Amino acid sequence: MPSAEDGVGGAAVEPGAAVEAGEPAAGSEAVGSAGEPLDFSALGPGTWVELAVAADIEAVEAVSEILTRFAPGGTSVEPGFGLTNEGLGAVVDPTRPAIVRAYLPGLDPEAVRIAIAEATTALGHLQAFGLRPIGELTTRMVREADWAEAWKSHFPVLRVGRRIVIRPTWRRHRRRPDDVVLSLDPGMAFGTGLHPTTRLCLAALETLADEGRVAGRSAPSGTAGPAGRARVLDVGCGSGILAIAAGKLGAHDILGVDTDPIAVKSTLANARLNGLTRRIRVRQGSVPTGEPAFDLILANLIASLLVQLAPDLRRELAPGGRILASGIFRDREGDVVAAFRAAGLEIGRRWAEEDWVALEAVAPA
Ligand code: SAH
Repeated sequence: MPSAEDGVGGAAVEPGAAVEAGEPAAGSEAVGSAGEPLDFSALGPGTWVELAVAADIEAVEAVSEILTRFAPGGTSVEPGFGLTNEGLGAVVDPTRPAIVRAYLPGLDPEAVRIAIAEATTALGHLQAFGLRPIGELTTRMVREADWAEAWKSHFPVLRVGRRIVIRPTWRRHRRRPDDVVLSLDPGMAFGTGLHPTTRLCLAALETLADEGRVAGRSAPSGTAGPAGRARVLDVGCGSGILAIAAGKLGAHDILGVDTDPIAVKSTLANARLNGLTRRIRVRQGSVPTGEPAFDLILANLIASLLVQLAPDLRRELAPGGRILASGIFRDREGDVVAAFRAAGLEIGRRWAEEDWVALEAVAPA
């Protein structure tokens, strides 16, 4: 079925997931909505005030910074969605405004009034600076009883590439025969929409899986592991999303490394959620791993790190093995290509989305 879902890096919200920007959580008693003035007399213990601003992608950072000044818990950002499939599905659309949200305790209505006034002023200044347009500040009251569930409505089921489905743990998904479903708990290191660099890497991984390079060896010359089984290394595993995708796509022997101990915990927890603890090992650290060579390395890092780590990454590869390198800002692509070539790798395919590039780099057989 041709649809926007087929785009390489695009992430699509599942039909039936019924998530739209601003949809209140099921059962959440949101009082007031965009356009309606906030009823300050209803505030008090057990209430929160949601501040929401629609912002062009370029202005998200600045709007978040302003709202964070008033909201102790920080902000959440929901990417803009465009509808597809006659309105049944949706894709993340970077040209549409994102929604930045923050929550103020309703305990002290006067403090809320002041915070709203100051945030409105600061947002007005931001507009005056000529950043791309941002919407009006809207407010609504959320009762604490519903609070624990309220944030969940902002995490849809996402489809990436052709058959990878990212399912937040509390959402149901009607599986299609080919679907590769990853269950993730966004509480841990996982944003609302996926970052384009992660999407690119997932889509590229799916392509390699279709070629039989994820479950098994691409070249018979691999040196380690049981015959025919690919060894996969995820450098900078974060939430473990790439390692888990590799496991779901058939890889049996996966090592995730990350310098951040929280990422290690998060990857372990998500591996458990997906029944992949026997296939995925996780370790705090980086390359060199001191392990036998790998057939596939997933490295969604920034360009400067890829440049710096290129020789070490190369040394981790079995003959004929390959790296999927993502996180490369468009302007830095040449530097990464040069570093990989200097390390003795050949550049293969290239995937791009927005300002981001992912590259395949192959070790000589
Ligand atoms: N693989 C995940 C996360 C990518 S974010 C995804 O695709 O979504 C990059 C991760 O690299 C972060 O978790 C960060 O802690 C980790 N990192 C940063 N420098 C590193 C290094 N030198 N070696 C290994 N991991 C590193």
